[in-house]
Amino acid sequence: MTLTQADSQIATLIQKEQMRQETTLELIASENHVSTAVMEAAGSCLTNKYAEGYPAARYYQGCGFYDEIESIAIERAKHMFGCRFANVQPHSGASANLSAFMAMMKPGDQFISLNLASGGHLSHGMKLNASALYFKPAHYELDAKTELIDFDSVRAKAHELKPKMILCGYSAYSRIIDFAKFRQIADEVGAYLMADIAHIAGLVVGGAHPSPFPHAHVVTTTTHKTLRGPRGGLILCNDEELNKAVNRAVFPGLQGGPLMHIIAAKAVAFGEALKPEYKTYIQQVVKNAGALANGLMKRGYRLVSGGTENHLMLVDLRAKDAELTGAEAALALEKAGIIANMNGVPNDPRPPKVTSGVRLGTPATTTRGLKEADMDNVAGIFDRVMANRRDPAALVRIRAEVAEVCRRFPMPH
Ligand SMILES: *Cc1c(COP(=O)(O)O)cnc(C)c1O
Repeated sequence: MTLTQADSQIATLIQKEQMRQETTLELIASENHVSTAVMEAAGSCLTNKYAEGYPAARYYQGCGFYDEIESIAIERAKHMFGCRFANVQPHSGASANLSAFMAMMKPGDQFISLNLASGGHLSHGMKLNASALYFKPAHYELDAKTELIDFDSVRAKAHELKPKMILCGYSAYSRIIDFAKFRQIADEVGAYLMADIAHIAGLVVGGAHPSPFPHAHVVTTTTHKTLRGPRGGLILCNDEELNKAVNRAVFPGLQGGPLMHIIAAKAVAFGEALKPEYKTYIQQVVKNAGALANGLMKRGYRLVSGGTENHLMLVDLRAKDAELTGAEAALALEKAGIIANMNGVPNDPRPPKVTSGVRLGTPATTTRGLKEADMDNVAGIFDRVMANRRDPAALVRIRAEVAEVCRRFPMPH
């Protein structure tokens, strides 16, 4: 029985969502459009089975093909990042992080990271998150002037607190991360260095960002952002003992049965990322981010840190219009068919549900085939949406224009 026959209510909503994705431009920096091959694996019969354990060491019978699939995913992950060990089972980036924490620390141990408001992730010690409930976070800062990582503050915090672990890698940071510098500070105080490359993993694989290896002891990532795979997590390392601790932390530490359909989809996505076309794609993601950034700056917008070196940028709307908030901007953009998220800027005076910024990224639009000139056009549309944000009729007209761009650049089919 098809889904439409079995459950027309859900089937209709999925069709509507498909339509929404086809007819809008996705500028959320953490999203992408996966291939139909990835979706086919994710929607397969592999969802039916328990495979607790690891390849050739399962707690259930009938796992032969699962062993082969997971082993292929692991080999491809190691190949992508040039490291010795990979755990492909984490259900998400946040659970990969918690497992990595469990592998390196005991409950109550101190770690330092960048806080959420400055561009970190909630799994890096936000007060309501398990990372803060069960471990002890403190935060290093951005330089107030340059808005780049302030390594003096990293070093000062590290020497003051002697943390068990130093965490780098961010959700809203548009600049290259100097992993070697972090490692040097970690070595000065005998801390582990953990790199969470959830956002930039694809750039690392595609050669557009330096690798966290050999500097980081443990590397975590999501598989669904620039990596363009199914929603999920991944943990990488080079040390055999740490790898054992990571494996124990993922299962049985934090998770039960792995999502084998998602692991198969990860393997497919990793296979795609190892092809030469993916490198071309990633280079274009970065070129497109540069073009979008320039297009916005020449139209009077300020970008946090003054620009971007990766796939994303943080637009500080105050320089253009002191009244304009991130919430109002993101809502007007949605009405015009451009999907983005509001985001705090460093030391944002407005609360998290209002903010003074929007975060934009180019992974999804680049998958659709947009190039630099198209991104400059998107910057122009962005500017017109801001100027017409209180004019519903103008937003409807812009939405038709955006839909036309979407027709010219279809999603993967
Ligand atoms: C997106 C992100 C994550 C979490 O991923 P989920 O799959 O949503 O749990 C973790 N760390 C960073 C830096 C991220 O940007």
